[in-house]
Order: sequence, then C-alpha cells, then structure tokens
Amino acid sequence: MQKEISKEVIDKNYNQILEDIKRYSPYPEKVKILFVSKYYDIEEHRKIIEMGYNYFGENRAQVYRDKLKEFSGEKYKNIVWDFIGRLQKNKIKYIINNVNLIHSIDSYELLEDINKKAIENGRTVNGLIQINVSKEESKTGIYVEDFEKDSNKYFLMDNVKIIGFMTMAPLGASEEEISKYFSKMLDLKRKYAEKYDYLTELSMGMSGDYIEALKNGATIIRIGSKLISK
Ligand SMILES: *Cc1c(COP(=O)(O)O)cnc(C)c1O
Repeated sequence: MQKEISKEVIDKNYNQILEDIKRYSPYPEKVKILFVSKYYDIEEHRKIIEMGYNYFGENRAQVYRDKLKEFSGEKYKNIVWDFIGRLQKNKIKYIINNVNLIHSIDSYELLEDINKKAIENGRTVNGLIQINVSKEESKTGIYVEDFEKDSNKYFLMDNVKIIGFMTMAPLGASEEEISKYFSKMLDLKRKYAEKYDYLTELSMGMSGDYIEALKNGATIIRIGSKLISK
C-alpha cells in the first residue's frame, strides 16, 4: 500500500525543523537535516526526490543498493546518500561505492572490514563511530570507555576517515536523561576534535528528540516520521 506523500505536509514539517535549528542550535549554519527515507518504497521515494529533497539516509543495505540503482544517472546526480543502519560485513559491498557517510560503525571489526572493502574498491569513505552512550543492551555501538581506552586505532585506517560520532538516545528516556547523554556526546566530540581537526560531525537526534540534540550541538539530525506527520 502506498502512503500518501504530500508535498505540503513534508515541506511544512521540514520548514518547522529548519526553524527549530535556528532557535535551538548553538551553530545553526553547521546543522544538516538527514531525510530518513527508509519508510518509502521506490515510487514513494521518487515523489520525494521530485519535491527537491536530496540528502537521504537508509538503514538497510539491500534497499540502499536497490534505490541507488533506481536513482542513478544524470537526473539524480545531486542526491547524497548516507547509511545509518546495522551493517553486516557481507553487505558492505552494496554501499561502499556511493556512500557519502556511514553513520553506524559500531565496532572496530566493522571499521576494519569497511576499510578493507574501501581499499579493494579504490575508494575513501567517511564514517562516524556509533557510540552506545546509555549502554542500553538492545542498542549497538561502542561504549564510551571502550572507545577511549584505545581510541587511536580508529583513526589509523587508510581508506576510512572518522569524522565524528553518532548515537541514539534510549527509548522512553526522559528529556533530562536524553540531554545528559547528548551532552556527554558533545564532550566526546569536542575532545577528539581537538586532536583531529577534521572531526566535525555529531549525528544525533531523531523525530522525538532532535530538539534536545540541537541544544547539545548535533550537526546532523536524522529525521523520518516527523516529516510525514500531519
Ligand atoms: C529510523 C531511524 C531514524 C529516524 O527515526 P524517526 O523517529 O522516524 O525520525 C534515525 N536514525 C536511525 C538510525 C534510524 O534507524
């Protein structure tokens, strides 16, 4: 079944988020809205592209591959694709050749595997380390302490450049808790930005918590459901 894709609704929500960025972010000019397009099939997604949106995040490698195949060529050359989901080793090949930013590097082993595939394909890719800041068991990501224990190794890859961090707040957490986790992420980003001047990105905040993320210095907010809510 096709969802109703209304330009009016999406534009209105998108503009609201732009306003929120200006209002809540300490540096609004640095903030990007990643349009999480995982809820749409090819035909629905095509309509969204025709509305003028061009920066998308997908969370499943096969879908990513299929959409890229569909939206290729001159007409779609301005579209930028990020990957935000759990990535299995054997599916890195589906995304490696076109991806702008991999948000979800949730283990050192995965980073090594991505690096290997990038080298094989003669590519250099940008990535974010996914941090499990709340230590919620159902979430993936590296614990802050584990990252800090041995952080240098993440920055030694020849073909993957780590330009920041990504996190997800725990489900059902209070605003205060969410803020605490996001501010911990900002501290982490600041600390490593001192060491690596190209480390500029902090991907956090989704439809339900992006305002907290903005207040705490997010540079990429990943928004899906809010864009179609009436
Ligand atoms: C689905 C998803 C989002 C967007 O979630 P919404 O609540 O629909 O905005 C953001 N980040 C990741 C990793 C996701 O899988």
